[in-house]
Amino acid sequence: MAIHNPEIKYTKLFINNEFVAAESGKEFEVINPSTEDVICRVSEADKHDVDKAVAAARKAFHRTSQWRTMDASQRAILMHKLCDLIERDMNYLASLESLDNGKIFADSLGDLEYTVKTIRYYAGWCDKVQGVTIPCDGDFISMTRKEPVGVVGQIIPWNYPVMMLAWKWGPALAAGCCIVMKPSELTPLSALYLAALSKEAGFPDGVINVVPGFGPSAGAAVSEHHDIDKVAFTGSTAVGALVMQAAGKSNLKRVTFELGGKSPIVVFDDCGDLDEAVDTCHGGVMNNHGQNCCAASRCYVQESIYDEFVKRSVAMASKRVIGDPFDESSTMGPLINRVQMDKVLRYIESGKKEGAKLECGGIRKGSKGFFVVPTVFSNVTDEMTIAKEEIFGPVQSILKFSTMDEVIDRANKTTYGLASGVITKDINKALMFAQGIKSGSVWVNTYDLCQPQSPVGGYKQSGQGRELGEAGLEEYLETKTITIKIPSKF
Ligand code: ADP
Repeated sequence: MAIHNPEIKYTKLFINNEFVAAESGKEFEVINPSTEDVICRVSEADKHDVDKAVAAARKAFHRTSQWRTMDASQRAILMHKLCDLIERDMNYLASLESLDNGKIFADSLGDLEYTVKTIRYYAGWCDKVQGVTIPCDGDFISMTRKEPVGVVGQIIPWNYPVMMLAWKWGPALAAGCCIVMKPSELTPLSALYLAALSKEAGFPDGVINVVPGFGPSAGAAVSEHHDIDKVAFTGSTAVGALVMQAAGKSNLKRVTFELGGKSPIVVFDDCGDLDEAVDTCHGGVMNNHGQNCCAASRCYVQESIYDEFVKRSVAMASKRVIGDPFDESSTMGPLINRVQMDKVLRYIESGKKEGAKLECGGIRKGSKGFFVVPTVFSNVTDEMTIAKEEIFGPVQSILKFSTMDEVIDRANKTTYGLASGVITKDINKALMFAQGIKSGSVWVNTYDLCQPQSPVGGYKQSGQGRELGEAGLEEYLETKTITIKIPSKF
C-alpha cells in the first residue's frame, strides 16, 4: 500500500556510517515532479565532503580492517540482511521513490523488488569468487587471486534511482570494495534511506558512503579523485566523456560506463500475435515515461503490417492514464523536471517540422507537474532528429522497412549500441538479427528484460564494461598472479 506523504527521514550526507551536514553548510531543494512543490532540502556535497567520504572508504578498505578481514560468507549475510530490511520497508521506499521521481507506485514497487533480487543475486557470489591455478613453463606454478578493486566511486542518474544503486552496490560489495556513491541531485532520497538501512544491517563504518550533490562539483570530485580506484558511471554519453577525461587526467582509475542509447526494435510480418508485438514495442519505449537508456525509441515495422501496427500503437498510447503516481488508475507519471519536459517537447516539435506524422499526444498535460502526453509518430525516416537523438521521453517513432539486410544496416547506423529487440516467429530471422546487430543486449520477442543474472552494457558510445551477471562482478575485481617456484629436489 502506498504511503501518500512519506516522512522524509534522511537529508544529510552519509559518511562513515553517520549522517552529517555538508562542510559548506549548503543544501539544495528536492522537487516533486508531479506538483513542482519542494519535498525537502538535502545537504549538498562538494569536493571537501567527497574527500571525507573517500578517506572513510579508504580506511575501511585497509587490509587489516573489519571489512577486509571479514569472511566472504559474512559479507553475504550482511547483504541479505540489507535486503530483509528493504523488504521490511518496501512500501515506504516505493512511496519515497514515487514522490521523488514521479514513477507510478506499482513501478516503484517493481524497482524495489528488482533491487532486492539484484543484491541477493550478488550476495550469492561473495564466497564463490575464485582464481585458478596455471601450470607454467619451467619449475613454476602460478595461481590467481581475485581481489577487490578498492575504493569505488559510483555516479548514478535519476531514472531508476534505487535500481541503479543496486546494480552498483551489489557487485561492489560482493567483491569486497568500499563505496562512495553520488546519487543524482534530482533523486537523492532513496539512496540516503538505503544508506541508513546499510548501517542498521551492520555494515562497518566507511564501507558505504552516499554524497548527494551536483555533477560538476560532487560528481567531478569523484571522477577526478586521486584516491578512488574505479568509477562506475551511468548517465548521458556527454557526461561519460567528461568522467573518462577526469579519470585519465587524475590517476587513470578504471572506468565503467552505461550511457545513452537510441535502441531499435524490429517487428517482422511473421510476428504472430500483432497485439502482443504492439504491446512489447509500446512498453519498450513508454515504460518509465521513456526515461530509460534502453528505450526502444526506433520501432522498425515491416511494410505489410505497418499501417495496422501504427493504428494499434496509437490506440494503446491513447489508453494511457497520465496523472498522480499515487493514484491507482494512473499508468504514467510526470517527467523528472522542467528541463527534461521542455527538451522532450522540443523533440516533438522537431519531429513535426521535419515531416513525421504526429498520430497522437505531442503536448504537455495540464500546467502543474511535468506531464507529457504519450506521443506516437509515424512516417519517421532515419535522418530525422527524432530517429537519431536520444529523447528520453514518451515518444514512439515508427519507421517502415522491407528486408532483413536493410533493417540491420539501418538499425546499426547510430553512434549508440546499448540495446535492441526483434519480434518474429522465425528463429533463423531472430538469430540472424541477433548476430548482425551491434548492441550489448538483444531481446527476442520481449524487451528490456534486465535480469540480475544476465549482463547489460553498451557497444560503441553506449558504454564500456558490463553490469549485472558475473561480467558485472568482474568489473570490481583485480586479478593478482602469484607464481611459485617448485624446488627441483629436496
Ligand atoms: P541524465 O541525462 O540522466 O541526467 P547526466 O549524465 O546529466 O544524465 O547525470 C547522471 C549523473 O551524472 C548525475 O548523478 C549527475 O549529477 C552526474 N554528473 C553530471 N555532470 C557530471 C560531471 N561533470 N562529472 C561527474 N558527474 C556528473
